[in-house]
Formats: sequence, structure tokens, C-alpha cells
Amino acid sequence: MQERASEAVAAMRPTANWAGNVAYRAARLHRPTSIAELQDVVARSERVKVLGSRHCFDDIADTTGDLVVLDGLASDVEIDAAPDGDGGTAWIPAGMTYSHLVPGLAARGYGLHNLASLPHITVAGATATGTHGSGNRNGSLSTSVVGLDVVRSDGATTTLTPEDPDFAGAVVHLGALGVVTRIGLRFRPAFQVRNNVYVGLTWDRLVTDFQAVTDAAYSVSVFTDWHEVTQVWVKSRTDELDVAPEEFFGARAATVPTHMLKNTPVENLTEQLGVPGEWHERLPHFRSGFTPSNGNELQTEYFVPRRYVQEVCDALRSLGPRIAPLLQVSELRTVAADDLWLSPAYGADVLALHFTWLPDEAAVRALLPRIEAALRPYGARPHWGKLFTTDADELQRVYPKMRDFRALVRRSDPRSAFRNDFLDRTVAAYG
Ligand SMILES: Cc1cc2nc3c(=O)[nH]c(=O)nc-3n(C[C@H](O)[C@H](O)[C@H](O)COP(=O)(O)OP(=O)(O)OC[C@H]3O[C@@H](n4cnc5c(N)ncnc54)[C@H](O)[C@@H]3O)c2cc1C
Repeated sequence: MQERASEAVAAMRPTANWAGNVAYRAARLHRPTSIAELQDVVARSERVKVLGSRHCFDDIADTTGDLVVLDGLASDVEIDAAPDGDGGTAWIPAGMTYSHLVPGLAARGYGLHNLASLPHITVAGATATGTHGSGNRNGSLSTSVVGLDVVRSDGATTTLTPEDPDFAGAVVHLGALGVVTRIGLRFRPAFQVRNNVYVGLTWDRLVTDFQAVTDAAYSVSVFTDWHEVTQVWVKSRTDELDVAPEEFFGARAATVPTHMLKNTPVENLTEQLGVPGEWHERLPHFRSGFTPSNGNELQTEYFVPRRYVQEVCDALRSLGPRIAPLLQVSELRTVAADDLWLSPAYGADVLALHFTWLPDEAAVRALLPRIEAALRPYGARPHWGKLFTTDADELQRVYPKMRDFRALVRRSDPRSAFRNDFLDRTVAAYG
């Protein structure tokens, strides 16, 4: 489905998130056209939050005070290419979406190491929440960040770089530290990818050969209803694999474009059937300019160390009959370990367990504690931008750097201007 006109209207005067399950309570909306104007808004506001493209499913971006959108700021991208042609840094306006950023990068022969399932999200919103794609050796999108220009709650500006001792705490910041106005992103030479979809992989084969299955290509996504493995999307770099095999761990190649959601037209999907294309036209599942997924849904995701694949799949399969009535589809991806304090992949190569739900929030919220209890022995960390009920005590248990992050919040925002209900429930930094 071509993206709705109402999407554009909502972007002019946002009143709710993309999924429509969070109505923003802000008293005022600001669209500054200069950094000075933004500094003034922030310094004067008692409570302030920035809106990205509103694709989170929880109240992480909500406030009762002032909401700020950054699409009125200058939109120039500054490219700092390495002399050897091996990559470089792109300084981009924080409110820019990947949809707007990536064609220009690709046209100059540059690439990003990975993308999420959709390019519609802002770079700032995505990297603030540890948003990820898939790939055993691919870190989350936040791992590309090499610099942040920030407006603090007193209105002063600062630039953070990896030399700053707080940098690893500041990249996945959940909107708690300030307004990010520019982001430095590391890029590399462009590359080509093909997506081959396979059907008929058995659970036994998936779990027994999980490492080999997910190592077989640059980015692998496994879809399931927890009864059976429904599809495997195998996205390989053309410079790493000449020809995609007809058979994949006993599964057979799909012969027509295939949606991961039942009864959903394939027009919003990026190209499949092994047709090579630019990295940014294959790594996302969904095409820019079209409604991603099916638009009528909620989402949840948990991350566990990859070594627990057998245990967590058994646990979730045994909850299958409870999950099934609410589930549209689940997706298993992998994310490489990083050192970003609040990244779901902090310190461990993780398996990401994603759920696309029917849009029944009360029923989903009633089910989540069961799923969380089943995954608790494996130290599950929830996706910051999706629905979860994990409380601050448990989050402190599974995030070894949570205490340091709280201290960083208090140092960065001593008057608690960026505080909101979400941060009170999760980070609990404000005493
Ligand atoms: C259909 C669909 C598919 C998705 N697929 C994936 C996926 O493949 N992988 C994945 O990991 N996630 C996925 N997500 C989740 C989503 O991409 C993330 O939650 C992401 O954070 C959304 O970015 P956004 O720009 O919409 O941010 P928002 O939801 O607008 O904001 C997120 C947070 O960032 C803060 N923020 C935004 N901009 C700034 C700024 N400039 N300065 C300071 N704080 C800021 C906000 O205040 C808020 O706290 C998906 C979501 C949808 C709807």
C-alpha cells in the first residue's frame, strides 16, 4: 500500500505514534528552524522531548510539556571521506530518515553496514534505541555512530566523540541526555546484496544448525509462528557468494515474492528471488514510500545471548498456544556484540526474538509478563522502542552499566528536563 496521505499530515502536527496506540500528551509542539531557536526552546522548557518519525510502540517519546520536531533544521549532509576511499564519516542532521539519507550515500558509492526492516525511521530515533537489522557479524545501527552534537537541558551545545569517556553511554540514550542535532555515522564502500527466501526449514534443523544457518549469509532472518518455521530470508553480499543455492539446510527456494505476513500484498517489500541490488534496496524488508509491515499492529522484541537459542525456542514454543491468537508473525535475527551501555547487544552476541502482534494492546500487555518470565533465566533485554513490561529492577539486573547510565543522566540533565514516564519506569534515574 502506498504510504497514506494521513502519514504526511501526521508528520506536520503529530498527535500519536505511527501505530496509533500512544497519543502524545504534549501541551505544545515546536518546529525550530535554527539551532539557536532550538536551544531557546529547550532552555525554557520544564519538560521536553524530541520526536523522530514516531515509529516506537511505547511512550518513550511522550511528554506532558514540549514536543520538538527537528525537520525544520538545515538538512545538509557533510561527507568526510577517508583518502584511501575505504569509507569515512557522514555528519547528518539528526531528524533525517534513512529513506532520505541512503540514496545519496549510495549514489556516491558509499554504504552503511546495515539497516532495519524499514528505512522510514530517523537516524536519531533509531540509534537512540539500539535499533538493529540482522547478521552474525553486524552490530546494531547505533554501532555506526562516531559523533553526536547535543543541546543540553541548559541550552548549551556540546559534541561527543569516542574519545569522550561517556560516549559509550551516550549513543543509546533513550532521549534522556539532550537533543541530538547532528550525528556522525561511519560509512564504508557500497556493496550489492541479493535476497533469497526459503520455505520448509524444520525446527530441528534450525536449532541444531543455528550458527551455520545464521552464518550462511550477511543477514539472515527467520520467520515463525512458533508452530513451524515459515520462511528464511537469506540476504547475501554478491561479493561474498556468487550464486545462492537452490536448497538451504533442507529448505527450498521460494519461486515467487513472498510476504512474511499472511494475506498481505507483496508490493511493499524490497525485491527478492535473488535479484542483486544496492545494499539499501535489499537490507530493509520494506520499501521506502510504502507502509511498512501492514500498518495495523503492535510489536515486541527481546534479546538473549545467542548460545541460548535452543532453550529460548523451546520456552517460546511451549507458550505457542497462548501466543498464537495474538500473533501476526515472529522473526529471529542476530546482532553482534557491542560496548554501548544500554544497547540490547551490550557485551554479548545476541539472538533477537521479535513479535508482530495484532493491535490488541490490552491482550498483548496481559501476555507479555508470561513471555518475560519464560525468558528471564536467559537475561532477556527488551527492545526500548517496542512494548514490554520489564521493570527497572530487572532492567538493572540485565544491564550491567545501568547504574553508570543513571549517573550520566543526572550529570547531563541535572534539572530533569528530558524526564518522562517511560524513563521513570525503566531507567529510574531521577530519585
Ligand atoms: C514497522 C516497523 C518496523 C520496525 N522494524 C525494526 C527493526 O527492524 N529493527 C529494530 O530494531 N526496530 C524496528 N522498529 C522499531 C523502531 O525502528 C525503533 O523503535 C526506532 O527507535 C524508531 O525511530 P523513530 O525515528 O521513529 O524514533 P521515535 O519513536 O520518534 O523516538 C524514539 C526515541 O528517540 C528520541 N529521539 C528521537 N530523536 C531524537 C533526537 N534528535 N535527540 C534526542 N532524542 C531523540 C525520542 O525522544 C524517543 O525517546 C520498527 C518499527 C516499526 C513501526
